[in-house]
Amino acid sequence: MSKNIIQKSFMLEALNQAKKALEFDEVPVGAVIVQDNQIIATGFNQNRQKCDPTAHGEIIALKMACEIKKSSKLENCDIYITLEPCAMCLIALSYARIRRIYYGANDEKFGAIESNPLFLGAKNAYFKSEFYSGICADESKIILKNFFKNKR
Ligand SMILES: [Zn+2]
Repeated sequence: MSKNIIQKSFMLEALNQAKKALEFDEVPVGAVIVQDNQIIATGFNQNRQKCDPTAHGEIIALKMACEIKKSSKLENCDIYITLEPCAMCLIALSYARIRRIYYGANDEKFGAIESNPLFLGAKNAYFKSEFYSGICADESKIILKNFFKNKR
């Protein structure tokens, strides 16, 4: 299988996670963490359910992966997220030394990689992960758009 197809298949799993969030009336953002081409952890936004503003999909997946690996470092792991991560998540991912960040849609408001790269531009940025954007971006955007449309 080509690299692109593999990346897309992991992003589709992240999208499935985002759809799970919808079932709980949560903002539909999902994430999966991959090691050696295997998904080892998954997560979706659970802010409302957990009454926890830090319960973003990436953080949930990150905690699950760290628990499984019994380590706070995930050096050989990649993450797939349906939406550009916020500053909080990006910094958490960098503390975990995630190798690569793949994400779908840009988040103009809160995205901390391309949309508002304050942290990345900082002189002492610890962040060294590679990142790739735009994978299944349209699908990721559409479910978010529909979610917020129904809220109005
Ligand atoms: Zn976040």
